Amino acid sequence: MARRKLVYEGKAKILYEGPEPGTLVQYFKDDATAFNAEKKATIDGKGVLNNRLSEFFMNGLQRIGVPTHFIRRLNMREQLIRQVEIIPLEVIVRNFAAGSMAKRLGMEEGTPLPRPIVEFSYKDDALGDPLVPEEYIIAFGWATQQDLDDIVALALRVNDFMAGVMHGVGIKLVDFKIEIGRVWDNDFMRLIVADEISPDSCRLWDIETGRKLDKDVFRRDLGDLADAYTEVATRLGVMPKNATNITKPTLIN
Ligand code: UDP
Repeated sequence: MARRKLVYEGKAKILYEGPEPGTLVQYFKDDATAFNAEKKATIDGKGVLNNRLSEFFMNGLQRIGVPTHFIRRLNMREQLIRQVEIIPLEVIVRNFAAGSMAKRLGMEEGTPLPRPIVEFSYKDDALGDPLVPEEYIIAFGWATQQDLDDIVALALRVNDFMAGVMHGVGIKLVDFKIEIGRVWDNDFMRLIVADEISPDSCRLWDIETGRKLDKDVFRRDLGDLADAYTEVATRLGVMPKNATNITKPTLIN
């Protein structure tokens, strides 16, 4: 097969030119990074799991009418997506205090919030993705007020869907991050969910035990990250147990 043209390489994914104009191939790597890439590792099977999990969530969202960039999965590590113009914001939705919010406000992790809170960080690795108010976003032209209203509405729909799906398998959705892209149908611009939705970009806690089933396992050295993601995938029926062991083939006698 001819090598695809690389469009962009990020920390966890690579984008290649797609087979048709307006499409891209999104490849999920096994690389994990945290603390703005100060901590790095390769975790066998992570890319396979995130490819499947992102497919599962994006498909579910499309089914309830939330537009996403996902077209179809191509293989274990790749999916075909719509090319979008990414809005340079990390859209974070929180149901319980954790991570940077808990730290900033001196709250205990896990404290329920009075309502889901949507916040925005400016996507810039060199600056460490700083939290920005809506005022900045509009003043600097990263998005309009109308865009922001639409983004908040989309983010809250994603939150309701994800929280419900997770609750159904005994997992609490503490918080998550999504990215939003613009697409044009002729002159008509629409905002759609892009990037990925996976345990890399969510906080997921087992409801019974509080066990962390997300990237905090890696950030905080709490055990095997692939085990945690496999637990999420098996509970959701996305993957049978042990199906991720593709980088370590075993001999069959
Ligand atoms: N998040 C992410 N990418 C980022 C920053 C945050 O996917 O660059 C996710 C993170 O996994 C968590 C949520 O967004 O589910 C909120 O993260 P927080 O602001 O608490 O930052 P962190 O503690 O991860 O630095």
